[in-house]
Amino acid sequence: MKPVPFFDLKEQNRQLRDEFDAAFRRVTENADFILGGEVEKFEENFARFVGTRFAVGVNSGLDALSLALRALNIGPGDEVIVPANSFIATALGVTSVGATPVFVDAEPGTLLIDLKSIECAITKRTKAIIPVHLYGQPVPMKPLMSLCRRKSLFLVEDACQAHGASIGKKRCGSFGDLGAFSFYPGKNLGAFGDGGLITTNDRSYYQKLRLLRNYGSVVKYEHTVAGFNTRLDALQAAILNVKLPHLEVWNEKRRALAARYDSLLGKFPGIRLVEQLKAQMSVHHLYVIRSDRRDALKDFLSQNGVGTSIHYPVPIHRQGAYRGLKKRSLKLLVSEKEAKRVLSLPMYPEMSLEDVDVVCSAIGDFMESR
Ligand SMILES: *Cc1c(COP(=O)(O)O)cnc(C)c1O
Repeated sequence: MKPVPFFDLKEQNRQLRDEFDAAFRRVTENADFILGGEVEKFEENFARFVGTRFAVGVNSGLDALSLALRALNIGPGDEVIVPANSFIATALGVTSVGATPVFVDAEPGTLLIDLKSIECAITKRTKAIIPVHLYGQPVPMKPLMSLCRRKSLFLVEDACQAHGASIGKKRCGSFGDLGAFSFYPGKNLGAFGDGGLITTNDRSYYQKLRLLRNYGSVVKYEHTVAGFNTRLDALQAAILNVKLPHLEVWNEKRRALAARYDSLLGKFPGIRLVEQLKAQMSVHHLYVIRSDRRDALKDFLSQNGVGTSIHYPVPIHRQGAYRGLKKRSLKLLVSEKEAKRVLSLPMYPEMSLEDVDVVCSAIGDFMESR
């Protein structure tokens, strides 16, 4: 059988090679490497795409989260609610500003942060909630936004897996006070290295973020706050300006692939899919299934030329990085159970529907063989 890698960018890069070459030439000819025109253009383009007034490019998704919390003056003594089932960066954003992450369990159907558990986790110290639009599926934002309003909490969206995902006509990154994006190469919109961005409709956050990312300075050598060096590179912005116009088509392809997976895998009693909510338009950053025999299935697929991955094998609160963290006795049973069952199947826009058939027939062989 034809091998199907878990992820592969080479075909996409081939298709866009001339545009990338032109972008690279533009940057080298202008010799404008830090901030400047390409970055401004991308910030404008991406803000328009998401539907916010402002966007600020930074050098990673982690820094986007961390600076978003700094813009809100969140720091030591404050608590921020995060899902236990996410990439560790969601929590690292919180600890990087000295605040305490409070982990909340996943909803068993969607594996998104569980809204009911969020309410139980709120204390007098809680300052913000960071919902993660996990695997590309938007967290239901309406109830979360009204909860935040009722309890006077900030809402920072971790949209690092959700470029273009939407609820109705509104895109992820435009619901909260701030939205954090990553352009790590493997994301739905990826750079040729690290990159990130923060979206907001609030001019004062926007101005503060521009200071924070650039040594606390807008006018050169005048530093009004103690800032950081975390800027989106002009070269990465130029690459992202080439790629952004293709994002919707790529997301559409991912949806077609996901629909094919759904229809072929739905018939296996041993496989549980991640539920998709009706009003939510996922961009299928990852296609995740669940199986009690996950590890054996992963090995079998690997032997049959199908690449897979696990998102995530260890819930954040179980990571060594947070061993010393005092945890409140919230139960995180779903996150712990599902970490042993989730398996991410191949998913990228240049994959074909026939590749999905190959993956699913290999899964079928595994199911029949024992
Ligand atoms: C990728 C990712 C991040 C971090 O992005 P980097 O650019 O790698 O720092 C944060 N949160 C989630 C959910 C992610 O998937």
